[in-house]
Amino acid sequence: MHPERFESWLTVGTHGLYCRPGGFHIDPHSAVNRAVITHAHSDHARAGHDHVLATRETLALMKARLGSAANLGTQALGYGETLQVGDVTVRLVPAGHVLGSAQVVIEWRGRRVVISGDYKRSADPTNPPFELVPCDLFVTEATFALPVFSHGDAKGEVAKLLKSLKQFSERAHVVGVYGLGKCQRLIALLREAGYAEPIYLHGALAACCQIYESFGVELGALKPATGAKREELKGAIVLAPPSAIADRWSRRMPDALTAFASGWMRVRARARLRGIELPLVISDHADWRELTRTIAQTGAHEVWVTHGREDALLHHVQSTGRQGRALALIGREDEES
Ligand SMILES: [Zn+2]
Ligand SMILES: [Zn+2]
Repeated sequence: MHPERFESWLTVGTHGLYCRPGGFHIDPHSAVNRAVITHAHSDHARAGHDHVLATRETLALMKARLGSAANLGTQALGYGETLQVGDVTVRLVPAGHVLGSAQVVIEWRGRRVVISGDYKRSADPTNPPFELVPCDLFVTEATFALPVFSHGDAKGEVAKLLKSLKQFSERAHVVGVYGLGKCQRLIALLREAGYAEPIYLHGALAACCQIYESFGVELGALKPATGAKREELKGAIVLAPPSAIADRWSRRMPDALTAFASGWMRVRARARLRGIELPLVISDHADWRELTRTIAQTGAHEVWVTHGREDALLHHVQSTGRQGRALALIGREDEES
């Protein structure tokens, strides 16, 4: 192992990315002895690890979603705290993606590696903002790594939803949201925009909202959509997982108008395919500009790209004089976007 040859001590094996001098995996896609988890989305936080190190928020979300965060033991690390793990030091810093989401900062023999996990740079009232950490090697996500992806301002999208609500005041506005992150961010953005009415939730969304609230994120009045009177739901906002908006569940809503909050809504064909009347471009991932700007700001001379559209970003990295490498990690489909 040589500190300057990152691939000699940060390896990609059958379980995913592994830090040899630390003796742990980062977001492994199958069960391992020691895992450091960036955040609780299912493509990063799998069940069955013996030991898990993560933020307190991520551990709570893993417990709620997986039944337990680890078989043998968990260790919570707060943002900015440093911990010695094996021969390396580990620090978790905010990634701005969802509650508890962290970049993993690993230092070994004078070299610093930052593993971004999923991240975004735009404002999110439910999360501390992404913190830039200068490093030698930056391992970045690439979910929206094409120049065509530009997410724009989420507040403008929320204004569109509120305008539609005024215009079609008899229709239930059923908005597809991912259960962890997008749901709570959309609620918080609606509250910031002055929307004070109760927001109705599909049953699958309640648990994560409660965890956000338990960590001090205020979401205002939330009510279960199931059991609510039809009259009550006219002109109301109803949030549901993406899978529920197309099925019978949403047909029970009075004259449902379907919306979907996702970075993918930039691609109009996707919205049409799903039969979405009101696409809302709201993403919890960095867009092309944020990805390329962040890479430059870290000062890293080596960049590893994972988790999405590697090719374009890899080309960008190499054309700006940095060493680039595509990490083919399996099991990285976007659960959330
Ligand atoms: Zn994620
Ligand atoms: Zn992800």
